[in-house]
Amino acid sequence: MFDFDPALMTILCCPDCRGDLHGDFAMGNVACVRCGRSYTAVGTGILDLMPSSGKSLPESYNDPDYQKMSALFDEAQSYFTEGNSLFNSIHNASHATIRNWLRESKEDGWTCDVGCGQGHHWEFFEGAWDRFIGIDIRLESLEKIRRRHKKGLLIQADLTSLPFKDGAFQRLLSIYALEHIYHLDDAVSEMARILPQGGQAYIGLPCEGGLAWNFGRKLTSERTMSKRYNLDYRKYIRLEHCNDAADILETLSRVFNPVRTRFFPLSFLPAISLNLIVSQHFERRP
Ligand SMILES: [Zn+2]
Repeated sequence: MFDFDPALMTILCCPDCRGDLHGDFAMGNVACVRCGRSYTAVGTGILDLMPSSGKSLPESYNDPDYQKMSALFDEAQSYFTEGNSLFNSIHNASHATIRNWLRESKEDGWTCDVGCGQGHHWEFFEGAWDRFIGIDIRLESLEKIRRRHKKGLLIQADLTSLPFKDGAFQRLLSIYALEHIYHLDDAVSEMARILPQGGQAYIGLPCEGGLAWNFGRKLTSERTMSKRYNLDYRKYIRLEHCNDAADILETLSRVFNPVRTRFFPLSFLPAISLNLIVSQHFERRP
């Protein structure tokens, strides 16, 4: 048994047909009223709202180096998050910026954390994440969050078929997630769909594709990972970070109006090319 706020049923929907869901996750009797598919929560109260079939990925993702590095995902993550203080300050740049923006935000209610991963940024939102709904496709990542945070709803879901009704949230955030999403257009359409007109979106991205970012990686992780795991890390990254920061911001700006941008570390030089992290606040366009 786990605590489940029944009020949440009003914003959830079936990821297959977008029908209403009926029942109680804590009781284990949730089903879609339209297509009849039933849904459950796994052990630690993480809802499984994955679509029956996901969008397929190209053949290139079967590459052995990609598969090998993907299997080492957790270990590689800790290299970046616990590696050293320099990485930490780079990694945390967007967390701090978006935390400050959220504090200024007048919106109340639930915040959707799109592609929350292992939730390293949740530490920055102390006192706010009990109103977070973290969604990610990797159950292992969500379980890592649950071990650290008892509050906050966690949902295993596919960013290209979100299990939420239209306009379900007043705001969402997504930190270091969209660079990984192969079907970016679909994910961005879904993010726009779950916000009403004027809804707020807070996006954090590495400056992938920029000079500074590429140069930094060449000197650090590219060398370390290639050597440590005997693989072509550059090839892995081309697949794993399949979207450049500029492309992502351009895709987002088709449905969102930019409100403000913050670059790290050179906030006075507003260019992706010269920076490592970009944080962008958007508003859902009419
Ligand atoms: Zn359904």
